[in-house]
Amino acid sequence: MRIAVVEGDGIGHEVIPVAKRALEVLRPDFEFYSVDVGFGKWQRCGEAITSQDMEDLSSADAILFGAITTPPDPGYRSVIVQIRKTLDLYANLRPVFGKGFDIIIVRENTEGLYSGVEKIEEDSACTVRCITRRGSERIARCACRLVKKRRELTIGHKANVLKADAFFRDICIAEARKAGVPFRECYIDALCLDVLQHPERYDVILTENMFGDIISDVAAFLVGGLGVLPSGNIGDQHALFEPVHGSAPDIAGKNVANPIAALRSAGMLLSYSARDPVSAQRIEEAIGRVLAQGIRTRDLGGNATTTEFGDHVIRELESMNRA
Ligand code: ATP
Repeated sequence: MRIAVVEGDGIGHEVIPVAKRALEVLRPDFEFYSVDVGFGKWQRCGEAITSQDMEDLSSADAILFGAITTPPDPGYRSVIVQIRKTLDLYANLRPVFGKGFDIIIVRENTEGLYSGVEKIEEDSACTVRCITRRGSERIARCACRLVKKRRELTIGHKANVLKADAFFRDICIAEARKAGVPFRECYIDALCLDVLQHPERYDVILTENMFGDIISDVAAFLVGGLGVLPSGNIGDQHALFEPVHGSAPDIAGKNVANPIAALRSAGMLLSYSARDPVSAQRIEEAIGRVLAQGIRTRDLGGNATTTEFGDHVIRELESMNRA
């Protein structure tokens, strides 16, 4: 497999090399190539991503992605939003698991408030929350396929207030019925609280774009923060795997970032794109062994650096390879 590696900006430069090393240990047959995109590139070249970069990404079998800093400049278009749209990565899968719960958040990734239909005028600003039948049907079908291997679908929405959400909800319910999948629905604000109070009640949570982004950061509270949560951006032709966290400019360059989210994103790449759940499980096992020795980065209450934690995980993977 050919893997495009995008470190991006900020802590992407620190956590992605750890994830790439893990893939190299587990799958020496993979071929890697770097694609330089992001804010740093924009500062150097005036463009954050070129059409050649997009071609390089689109020719990969899978993409391992760090994070991009979005500067407060109206002329700058979010790189990850552009990539998700161009490669039609419509399903954003965000697993959150811990003691007694195992949730996967399925977030529609190409529509809603990220439609790009917006304008700022002198005294008003407007962003259109665009939700289509096609977009809702395909994300609902994706979530239903995941439920079939699991238990139940929860549709998170705000249909009591927003017409676009009533539309989204009705389509999701129709797809769940068609697929014969047990489902319930819940207002997204109540769901954000309940998922924290009773995470064990949830299995597959399906939402539109913005609500999915918010509820996954909320759910990060259950597992010790953003440093441990991976995600997959999946389309019919392409797939990109990235930590849920961003470039974290506040800690960038300090070698303190937690590489677990990036390692788990590499694990998702192995299971979803390489169809290699055994290697994916090894990454999880290696992380578990290192944590069990009390080795943790600062966000989890320890004092290991990014590289120290990464080195321990790699050593565990190498010892599994030898066993
Ligand atoms: P961006 O604009 O790129 O999204 P951000 O700082 O707004 O960056 P995040 O990068 O998601 O958003 O970071 C939010 C907070 O979580 C920051 O305080 C950051 O230090 C912390 N954080 C994020 N990722 C990690 C990580 N891997 N390890 C430790 N702390 C992290």
